[in-house]
Amino acid sequence: MHTLDIIRIVASLLVIIVGGAIGARRMWFLFRLLRVAKPMPERWGGWGKKLRYQLRHVVAQEKILQWTGVGILHAFIFWGFMIAQSQSLEAIGEVFDPDFHIPLIGRWEILGFTQDLFSVLIMVAIIGFAIVRFAQSPRIRGKQSRFAGSYLSHGWYVLLLEFALLYTVLVLRGVRVAHGTLPYERGAFLSRWIGENVFAGMGEFQLDLVGTVFLVAHIAVIFGFLIFTVYSKHLHIFTIFPNVLFARLPKALGPLESEKIDVENMSEDDVLGVGQIEHFGFKRFLDMYTCTECGRCQSQCPAWNTGKPLSPKLVIMDLRDHLYAKGPYMLDPSLAEANGSNGHENIDVLNMKLVGDAPGEESVIDFDVLWSCTTCGACVEECPVDIEHVDHIMDMRRYKVQMESSFPTEAGGMLRNIENSGDPWGLGQSKRMEWAEGLDVPVVNGTIPDDVEYLFWVGCAGALEDRSKKVTRTVAELLNKAGVKYVVLGQGESCNGDPARRLGMEYVFQMMAQANIELLNSIGAKKIVTWCPHCFNTIKNEYPAFGGTFEVVHHTQLLTKLVQEGRLTPQTAIDKKVTYHDPCYLGRHNEVYDPPRAVVDAVAGLEKVEMPRCRNHGFCCGAGGARFYMEETIGKRVNHERIDEALELEPDLVSTACPFCFVMLDDAVSDKVGSGALAEGTTKVVDVSQILAESLLPLASINGDGDHKSVNVAAGAATGPGSPPADGPDEGSHAERAGQP
Ligand code: SF4
Ligand code: SF4
Repeated sequence: MHTLDIIRIVASLLVIIVGGAIGARRMWFLFRLLRVAKPMPERWGGWGKKLRYQLRHVVAQEKILQWTGVGILHAFIFWGFMIAQSQSLEAIGEVFDPDFHIPLIGRWEILGFTQDLFSVLIMVAIIGFAIVRFAQSPRIRGKQSRFAGSYLSHGWYVLLLEFALLYTVLVLRGVRVAHGTLPYERGAFLSRWIGENVFAGMGEFQLDLVGTVFLVAHIAVIFGFLIFTVYSKHLHIFTIFPNVLFARLPKALGPLESEKIDVENMSEDDVLGVGQIEHFGFKRFLDMYTCTECGRCQSQCPAWNTGKPLSPKLVIMDLRDHLYAKGPYMLDPSLAEANGSNGHENIDVLNMKLVGDAPGEESVIDFDVLWSCTTCGACVEECPVDIEHVDHIMDMRRYKVQMESSFPTEAGGMLRNIENSGDPWGLGQSKRMEWAEGLDVPVVNGTIPDDVEYLFWVGCAGALEDRSKKVTRTVAELLNKAGVKYVVLGQGESCNGDPARRLGMEYVFQMMAQANIELLNSIGAKKIVTWCPHCFNTIKNEYPAFGGTFEVVHHTQLLTKLVQEGRLTPQTAIDKKVTYHDPCYLGRHNEVYDPPRAVVDAVAGLEKVEMPRCRNHGFCCGAGGARFYMEETIGKRVNHERIDEALELEPDLVSTACPFCFVMLDDAVSDKVGSGALAEGTTKVVDVSQILAESLLPLASINGDGDHKSVNVAAGAATGPGSPPADGPDEGSHAERAGQP
C-alpha cells in the first residue's frame, strides 16, 4: 500500500467518523426534542393517500413548481442531488478501492450519463439561484424582498457547498477517466471531457496526488455539508419527508383542528392552546425544523405587504430559534439550575413569554404580530414544504384568549355579542328577518318538508349588515325566480361561531357549533346554501368534527347550476368592465374559483379583467381572522391595498362573493372617493349575484338608478342606500363594526 493510499484512507475515515458523530449527535437532539411535543393522533393513518401526496409534493416537486422559474431550478437541484448520492457513494467506495463501482447498476452507461447531465443542471441551478439571491437581496429591495429577515449568509453557504460538492466530484471523475478506472464510457460525457482535456498527459503520481486531495476534500465537503444542514435551514432536505407525510390532507390549508373542550372535567393543569413552545404538537415542531426561509409565504402575506410586523416566515423562524434555544432545558430540566447558578446567557429563554400582552413587550412573538393575521391562508398555500402557519397562530391565539384574556380589546365586544345575542353586533334574533320584508321567503317551522331542497343559511352579515342585506335579498329573489324550494331559519339562526374561533375563543365556537348542529339535525337539514364563505367553510368543513355533516354549497355554485340548467337565463347585456375579488375562505380555503366567474360569464356584454393577484394567489380584503372586528392602525389598510390593485384595471364593477369582502372593498372605495382619489360613481362594489340579477331584471344595486322594486324595498327596509346605519353596522371604523361604543 502506497503512502498516498494510507493518507487517503486515514484522512477520509477521520472525516467520516468525526463528521458523522457531530451530525448524528445533532440529529439525536432534534429527534428527542420532537418527542417532547404533543402527540397529534389525528395526523396518523391514511398512509396510502399520504404516500401519493408525498410523491406529488416532494418527488414530483408539484408545489414548488407553482413558481415556475425558481421551481424548475429547485427541481434541478432536488433531482440532481438525488442522483449525486450515487456519485458520493462511488467516491466513498473509491477510498478503499480505486476501481470501485456500485454493485449491479454501477456500470450502466445511462447512470453515468444521468450523473453528468444533472451535474450540468445543478450548475445551471446554482448560477440561477445566485442571480435570484442578488436580484432579491433585501439590500436592494428592502422589506419587499422575500429574503428580508432570513439568515442571508446561510443561503450563500448552501450554494457554495453545492458548488464545492460538484467541483470536487467532477475533478475526481476526471482523474478516474485519466486513470482508466471510471466505470462508464461515453455515457459520462462531462467526466470524460474533463479527463481527456484537463488531466490528459499528467503523470501517475500527479494523478494520484490530485485524486487523493480531491477525494478527501469531497468527503470533507459531504460531511461539512451534513453538519451545516442539521444546524441550519437546510435541515429541510431531511425533514420535508416527514413534514409532508404528516401534513393536513387533502391539503395543508384546511379546517382548524382542536380537542373538544369539556369545562366540567377540566383540571387545573389543563392548558387551552399554546402558551409555551413545548405545548405545540409535533407537526408544528416539524414545521419549525423544515422552514427553508425562502420567503414565499412572506411575499404573499397581506399583513407584511401592508407594513404590519407580521411575516409568516419570521413567525416560524422565531419559534424555531426559541425552540432550539430552549430545547436543551426541555430535555434536561436540571440544566436550568446548573446554568442558572453560573449565569448561563441563554437562561432567559425559560422565562420569556411566547406572546406579548402589548406591542413591543419582550416575547418570542410580538402582540401585533399575532393579531395582524387575517388567517387568509396565503402563506400555507405558497409554502413549498407544507408548513401550516395558520395553525401555529391559532394555537397561540387560543392560549392568549382563553387562558389569559389577552387580545385586542375592541374584539371583546364581538365575543360578548356572540355569546349574549348570537351575532357579532349584538342586534339580536328579532332583527334577523328584516332583510326579507316584502319578499316571499319561507321560514322553517318544525322539520324541513321533503319537497324543500335547500336550507338557505343567511349568516349574521347577510341578515344584519345593511349593505349585505341587499345581496341577501338578491339571492332570495334569484332563488324564487328559479323556482328553488328553500327555507330559512329566520329568527332561529345564530352565528356559526367562526369569528370567535378565528379570534381564538374556541370554547365559544364549540358552544355555537354544538347548538347549531343540534338545531340543524333536529329540523332534518341536509342541503345548505350559504352566501357567506365563512359560514360555508365552517358548516361544510368544521362542523363535521362536532357531529354536523351536511351538503353545503355556496350561492355562486348554486347560481351557476341554475344557469346551466336553464332555470335562470340572463337577458340583458351589461356593457361594463368587471373584475372579481376571490374571498379567501371561498377561494384558497375551499378552492371555489370557477363558479363565481361562471356566474359573471353567463352575462353578455361584460368585459372581464383579472387582477394580478387572483385565484389561489388572491389577496385578502383584510377582514378574516376576526380582523373585521379589530382596529387596523399599523401600515396601509389591507382593503385599500386590494382596491388599489383593482382600480389599476379601471373597472366599473369590482365583484366579489362574500359579505365581509363586500363591506371591506366598499369601504375602501368610499375612502378613495372621500379622499378625492376616485370620482364618485366610477367604480361600484357588487356581489356576483347582483350582476346576474341585473341581467335578469335591472337592479338599482348595480346601476344606481333606484328604479327596481326589490332594491328600493331592501334599502328602505333598513336605512336606505348610502345612509348611516340606523341600528346596525355599516360604514365606519372597525370598532363601530364590532359594536363598540
Ligand atoms: S394567514 Fe394570511 S395574514 Fe396570516 S400570516 Fe398567513 S398570509 Fe399572513
Ligand atoms: S414557511 Fe414555507 S414559504 Fe415561508 S419561508 Fe418557510 S419554507 Fe418558505
